[in-house]
Amino acid sequence: MRWPSEEELTRARKELVAELRQKGIRDPRVLSALEKVPRHLFVLPEFIHLAYDDRPLPIGLGQTISQPYIVALSTEALALSPEDRVLEIGTGSGYQTAILAELAKEVFTVERIPELSWEAQERLRKLGYTNVRFRVGDGTKGWPEEAPFPAILVTAAAPRVPPSLLSQLAEGGRLVIPVGGRFQQDLWLVRKEGGRPVYEHLCPVSFVPLIGEEGWR
Ligand code: SAM
Repeated sequence: MRWPSEEELTRARKELVAELRQKGIRDPRVLSALEKVPRHLFVLPEFIHLAYDDRPLPIGLGQTISQPYIVALSTEALALSPEDRVLEIGTGSGYQTAILAELAKEVFTVERIPELSWEAQERLRKLGYTNVRFRVGDGTKGWPEEAPFPAILVTAAAPRVPPSLLSQLAEGGRLVIPVGGRFQQDLWLVRKEGGRPVYEHLCPVSFVPLIGEEGWR
């Protein structure tokens, strides 16, 4: 395989953003974040030629980097302001983390597999992100010391919304989470209004499982 040139990668990234616009992503801040973050640096070298296809890819250890459309849709649903602090569960490659770090003041990201977290930390450090805090552990319990959060994003599929995450969501806050069975789920936007969750269905999805005390055991 021939290694793609920087020019080819930049062109492919612009084409991907045009495709996402066609698929219905409208928020200009989300689209520019996806145009800026170099997804090819978050995938395994053998998949670099597929980095700007709108599809998930393996990142090793049985995990995946999510499909760009789902990253864009989830981020758009969070409606982030530059002053927001965001909690992300499932750092994975750190790609979605970088998109959040472009749009919010501070990102708190939790990953249960230490090796993935370490690699993501190194990648984001090299790319110059200074507004991300990493933690290795069970993200179903959230990050209580830093709660409440106006925005929470879960990037692995849960059998139900973890109560700890709901309780760490600020009043008026937005939580995006895939909920369902092991292989097929639905992506939900959950708003906390008057202390209660209000659910909005976004789309059907297929994520790797959220494994933990308030997830799959
Ligand atoms: N957002 C990531 C990216 O852009 O590369 C993709 C995340 S991948 C679909 C889901 C991640 O959630 C995996 O890395 C998995 O190890 C992690 N995960 C699963 N259960 C978890 C838990 N309880 N706490 C934290 N991370 C968890």
